[in-house]
Amino acid sequence: MLMNAFPGFDCHIHSHFSDGRESLDTMARTAAGRGLAGVVFTDHMPLPFENRYALVRRRLDAYRTEIKAVRRRMSGRLQVLMGLEMEVLPSHADWSREIAEGPWDVLIASVHQVEHEGRRYLINGTEAEFAEALETGFGGDIRRLCSAYYRQSSAMVATGWFRILGHLDVVGKHNRNGRFFDESAPWYRELVAELLAAVERTGMVVEINTGGLDHAVRSTYPGARILATIAARGIPVCLSSDAHRPEEVARHFERFPILPQRAA
Ligand SMILES: [Zn+2]
Ligand SMILES: [Zn+2]
Repeated sequence: MLMNAFPGFDCHIHSHFSDGRESLDTMARTAAGRGLAGVVFTDHMPLPFENRYALVRRRLDAYRTEIKAVRRRMSGRLQVLMGLEMEVLPSHADWSREIAEGPWDVLIASVHQVEHEGRRYLINGTEAEFAEALETGFGGDIRRLCSAYYRQSSAMVATGWFRILGHLDVVGKHNRNGRFFDESAPWYRELVAELLAAVERTGMVVEINTGGLDHAVRSTYPGARILATIAARGIPVCLSSDAHRPEEVARHFERFPILPQRAA
Protein backbone atom coordinates (compact mmCIF):
# COMPACT_ATOMS: atom_id res chain seq x y z
CA MET A 1 0.00 0.00 0.00
CA LEU A 2 1.26 3.46 -0.87
CA MET A 3 1.53 5.92 2.00
CA ASN A 4 1.08 9.59 1.21
CA ALA A 5 3.42 11.79 3.25
CA PHE A 6 1.66 14.94 2.00
CA PRO A 7 -2.06 14.13 1.91
CA GLY A 8 -4.08 16.64 -0.06
CA PHE A 9 -0.97 18.31 -1.52
CA ASP A 10 0.33 18.85 -5.00
CA CYS A 11 4.05 18.81 -4.18
CA HIS A 12 5.57 19.99 -7.46
CA ILE A 13 4.43 23.22 -9.13
CA HIS A 14 6.28 25.69 -11.36
CA SER A 15 5.56 29.34 -12.04
CA HIS A 16 6.91 32.00 -14.36
CA PHE A 17 9.80 32.47 -11.92
CA SER A 18 11.31 29.53 -13.84
CA ASP A 19 9.79 27.84 -16.91
CA GLY A 20 6.12 27.86 -15.84
CA ARG A 21 3.56 29.96 -17.71
CA GLU A 22 1.71 31.64 -14.85
CA SER A 23 2.14 33.51 -11.58
CA LEU A 24 2.42 31.79 -8.20
CA ASP A 25 -0.85 33.48 -7.28
CA THR A 26 -2.75 31.98 -10.23
CA MET A 27 -1.32 28.52 -9.55
CA ALA A 28 -2.32 28.74 -5.87
CA ARG A 29 -5.86 29.90 -6.65
CA THR A 30 -6.24 27.06 -9.14
CA ALA A 31 -5.08 24.53 -6.53
CA ALA A 32 -7.54 25.86 -3.95
CA GLY A 33 -10.30 25.72 -6.56
CA ARG A 34 -9.54 22.03 -7.13
CA GLY A 35 -9.99 21.29 -3.42
CA LEU A 36 -6.33 20.69 -2.59
CA ALA A 37 -5.20 21.15 1.01
CA GLY A 38 -1.86 22.58 -0.04
CA VAL A 39 0.89 23.08 -2.59
CA VAL A 40 4.66 23.12 -2.64
CA PHE A 41 6.09 25.69 -5.04
CA THR A 42 9.13 24.15 -6.66
CA ASP A 43 10.54 26.36 -9.37
CA HIS A 44 13.82 25.19 -10.89
CA MET A 45 16.77 26.32 -8.77
CA PRO A 46 19.22 28.75 -10.37
CA LEU A 47 22.03 27.04 -12.27
CA PRO A 48 25.57 28.35 -12.77
CA PHE A 49 25.49 27.93 -16.54
CA GLU A 50 23.25 28.92 -19.44
CA ASN A 51 20.03 26.93 -19.71
CA ARG A 52 16.43 27.37 -20.77
CA TYR A 53 14.47 26.54 -17.64
CA ALA A 54 15.92 27.74 -14.34
CA LEU A 55 15.20 30.69 -12.07
CA VAL A 56 17.93 33.33 -12.29
CA ARG A 57 19.83 33.69 -9.05
CA ARG A 58 19.20 37.41 -8.52
CA ARG A 59 15.46 36.65 -8.44
CA LEU A 60 15.65 34.09 -5.62
CA ASP A 61 14.72 36.69 -2.97
CA ALA A 62 11.79 37.95 -5.05
CA TYR A 63 10.61 34.35 -5.45
CA ARG A 64 10.62 33.78 -1.69
CA THR A 65 8.95 37.13 -1.00
CA GLU A 66 6.18 36.35 -3.48
CA ILE A 67 5.57 32.88 -1.99
CA LYS A 68 5.15 34.50 1.43
CA ALA A 69 2.68 37.00 -0.01
CA VAL A 70 0.66 34.21 -1.65
CA ARG A 71 0.74 32.25 1.61
CA ARG A 72 -0.78 35.23 3.43
CA ARG A 73 -3.45 35.78 0.80
CA MET A 74 -4.43 32.08 0.80
CA SER A 75 -4.42 31.74 4.59
CA GLY A 76 -7.22 29.43 5.75
CA ARG A 77 -7.86 28.22 2.17
CA LEU A 78 -4.60 26.60 1.08
CA GLN A 79 -1.30 25.70 2.73
CA VAL A 80 1.59 27.13 0.74
CA LEU A 81 5.06 25.65 1.20
CA MET A 82 8.26 27.22 -0.07
CA GLY A 83 10.43 24.93 -2.12
CA LEU A 84 12.70 24.46 -5.09
CA GLU A 85 13.35 21.70 -7.57
CA MET A 86 17.08 21.22 -7.11
CA GLU A 87 19.90 19.63 -9.07
CA VAL A 88 23.37 18.69 -7.87
CA LEU A 89 25.94 18.49 -10.62
CA PRO A 90 29.13 16.95 -9.24
CA SER A 91 31.24 19.87 -10.52
CA HIS A 92 28.92 22.45 -8.92
CA ALA A 93 28.02 20.79 -5.62
CA ASP A 94 29.02 23.85 -3.53
CA TRP A 95 26.70 26.05 -5.57
CA SER A 96 23.79 23.70 -4.86
CA ARG A 97 24.68 23.33 -1.20
CA GLU A 98 24.63 27.09 -0.68
CA ILE A 99 21.15 27.33 -2.21
CA ALA A 100 19.89 24.28 -0.31
CA GLU A 101 20.92 25.90 2.98
CA GLY A 102 18.32 28.65 2.52
CA PRO A 103 15.04 28.83 4.47
CA TRP A 104 13.10 26.26 2.44
CA ASP A 105 10.19 24.13 3.63
CA VAL A 106 10.63 21.36 1.06
CA LEU A 107 13.35 20.67 -1.50
CA ILE A 108 12.95 18.23 -4.39
CA ALA A 109 16.02 16.40 -5.72
CA SER A 110 15.85 15.92 -9.49
CA VAL A 111 18.27 15.04 -12.25
CA HIS A 112 17.82 16.80 -15.60
CA GLN A 113 21.45 17.18 -16.63
CA VAL A 114 23.72 14.18 -16.30
CA GLU A 115 27.38 15.02 -15.91
CA HIS A 116 29.73 12.54 -17.52
CA GLU A 117 33.44 12.83 -18.25
CA GLY A 118 33.37 16.57 -17.73
CA ARG A 119 30.36 17.34 -19.91
CA ARG A 120 26.62 17.82 -19.24
CA TYR A 121 23.82 16.05 -21.07
CA LEU A 122 20.16 17.06 -20.80
CA ILE A 123 18.29 13.76 -20.51
CA ASN A 124 14.70 14.88 -20.00
CA GLY A 125 14.50 17.28 -22.93
CA THR A 126 13.33 16.28 -26.40
CA GLU A 127 13.79 12.81 -27.85
CA ALA A 128 16.35 14.22 -30.31
CA GLU A 129 18.35 15.66 -27.41
CA PHE A 130 18.21 12.32 -25.60
CA ALA A 131 19.37 10.40 -28.66
CA GLU A 132 22.16 12.93 -29.22
CA ALA A 133 23.30 12.63 -25.58
CA LEU A 134 23.30 8.86 -25.88
CA GLU A 135 25.48 8.95 -29.01
CA THR A 136 27.91 11.74 -28.20
CA GLY A 137 28.28 11.20 -24.46
CA PHE A 138 27.93 7.46 -24.05
CA GLY A 139 28.90 5.99 -27.41
CA GLY A 140 25.34 4.74 -27.92
CA ASP A 141 25.56 2.57 -24.79
CA ILE A 142 22.25 3.04 -22.94
CA ARG A 143 23.53 1.09 -19.98
CA ARG A 144 26.31 3.63 -19.42
CA LEU A 145 23.85 6.50 -19.71
CA CYS A 146 21.42 4.93 -17.22
CA SER A 147 24.30 4.14 -14.84
CA ALA A 148 25.45 7.77 -14.92
CA TYR A 149 21.87 8.94 -14.36
CA TYR A 150 21.17 6.65 -11.40
CA ARG A 151 24.59 7.14 -9.80
CA GLN A 152 24.10 10.90 -9.92
CA SER A 153 20.58 10.47 -8.46
CA SER A 154 21.88 8.26 -5.65
CA ALA A 155 24.69 10.71 -4.85
CA MET A 156 22.16 13.54 -4.73
CA VAL A 157 19.94 11.61 -2.34
CA ALA A 158 22.95 10.75 -0.17
CA THR A 159 23.66 14.45 0.52
CA GLY A 160 20.68 14.43 2.88
CA TRP A 161 19.66 17.95 1.76
CA PHE A 162 16.31 16.93 0.30
CA ARG A 163 12.82 15.84 1.39
CA ILE A 164 11.45 14.54 -1.93
CA LEU A 165 12.99 12.61 -4.83
CA GLY A 166 11.67 14.01 -8.12
CA HIS A 167 10.65 12.00 -11.23
CA LEU A 168 12.74 9.00 -10.20
CA ASP A 169 12.96 7.23 -13.59
CA VAL A 170 12.66 10.18 -15.96
CA VAL A 171 15.66 8.71 -17.82
CA GLY A 172 12.92 6.53 -19.39
CA LYS A 173 10.93 9.54 -20.65
CA HIS A 174 11.57 8.54 -24.27
CA ASN A 175 11.53 4.79 -23.65
CA ARG A 176 8.01 4.07 -24.86
CA ASN A 177 7.60 0.38 -25.72
CA GLY A 178 11.15 -0.24 -24.51
CA ARG A 179 12.70 1.39 -27.58
CA PHE A 180 15.92 2.31 -25.74
CA PHE A 181 16.14 -0.35 -23.04
CA ASP A 182 14.30 -3.12 -21.18
CA GLU A 183 13.18 -1.81 -17.80
CA SER A 184 12.92 -5.38 -16.48
CA ALA A 185 16.58 -6.17 -17.24
CA PRO A 186 18.59 -7.13 -14.14
CA TRP A 187 21.20 -4.40 -14.67
CA TYR A 188 18.48 -1.73 -14.78
CA ARG A 189 16.61 -3.06 -11.77
CA GLU A 190 19.88 -3.10 -9.84
CA LEU A 191 20.44 0.62 -10.52
CA VAL A 192 16.90 1.38 -9.31
CA ALA A 193 17.42 -0.81 -6.22
CA GLU A 194 20.60 1.11 -5.30
CA LEU A 195 18.70 4.39 -5.55
CA LEU A 196 15.77 3.13 -3.46
CA ALA A 197 18.22 1.93 -0.80
CA ALA A 198 19.68 5.44 -0.63
CA VAL A 199 16.16 6.87 -0.34
CA GLU A 200 15.40 4.54 2.56
CA ARG A 201 18.64 5.44 4.34
CA THR A 202 17.84 9.16 4.20
CA GLY A 203 14.11 8.81 4.95
CA MET A 204 13.04 10.63 1.83
CA VAL A 205 9.67 10.68 0.08
CA VAL A 206 9.37 9.57 -3.57
CA GLU A 207 7.02 11.66 -5.68
CA ILE A 208 4.51 10.09 -8.01
CA ASN A 209 5.00 12.56 -10.85
CA THR A 210 1.81 12.49 -12.93
CA GLY A 211 3.29 14.72 -15.64
CA GLY A 212 4.60 11.66 -17.46
CA LEU A 213 1.03 10.50 -18.12
CA ASP A 214 0.87 13.40 -20.60
CA HIS A 215 4.22 12.53 -22.22
CA ALA A 216 4.60 10.00 -25.03
CA VAL A 217 5.58 7.30 -22.52
CA ARG A 218 2.13 7.64 -20.84
CA SER A 219 3.48 6.60 -17.45
CA THR A 220 3.95 8.23 -14.09
CA TYR A 221 7.54 8.73 -12.91
CA PRO A 222 8.27 6.27 -11.43
CA GLY A 223 6.32 3.72 -13.44
CA ALA A 224 4.09 0.94 -12.11
CA ARG A 225 6.85 -1.63 -11.61
CA ILE A 226 8.94 0.64 -9.37
CA LEU A 227 5.81 1.89 -7.57
CA ALA A 228 4.97 -1.69 -6.63
CA THR A 229 8.42 -2.05 -5.03
CA ILE A 230 7.98 1.26 -3.22
CA ALA A 231 4.61 0.13 -1.86
CA ALA A 232 6.02 -3.23 -0.76
CA ARG A 233 8.92 -1.57 1.07
CA GLY A 234 6.77 1.07 2.74
CA ILE A 235 8.66 4.01 1.26
CA PRO A 236 6.42 7.11 1.61
CA VAL A 237 5.21 8.88 -1.52
CA CYS A 238 3.54 12.15 -2.48
CA LEU A 239 1.57 13.32 -5.49
CA SER A 240 3.23 15.78 -7.89
CA SER A 241 1.70 17.19 -11.04
CA ASP A 242 4.88 19.03 -12.16
CA ALA A 243 2.40 21.65 -13.40
CA HIS A 244 3.82 24.37 -15.63
CA ARG A 245 0.36 25.85 -16.34
CA PRO A 246 -2.86 26.11 -14.32
CA GLU A 247 -4.74 23.36 -16.15
CA GLU A 248 -2.01 20.88 -15.11
CA VAL A 249 -2.41 21.42 -11.34
CA ALA A 250 -3.31 18.08 -9.67
CA ARG A 251 -3.52 16.41 -13.10
CA HIS A 252 -4.53 12.74 -13.01
CA PHE A 253 -4.56 12.66 -9.19
CA GLU A 254 -7.94 10.87 -9.42
CA ARG A 255 -6.00 7.79 -10.61
CA PHE A 256 -4.61 7.42 -7.10
CA PRO A 257 -7.78 7.25 -5.01
CA ILE A 258 -6.00 5.47 -2.15
CA LEU A 259 -4.07 8.68 -1.67
CA PRO A 260 -6.51 11.15 -0.11
CA GLN A 261 -6.97 14.37 -2.04
CA ARG A 262 -7.51 16.30 1.14
CA ALA A 263 -5.97 15.92 4.59
CA ALA A 264 -8.29 14.15 7.04
ZN1 LIG B 1 12.10 18.11 -13.16
ZN1 LIG C 1 9.48 20.13 -12.30
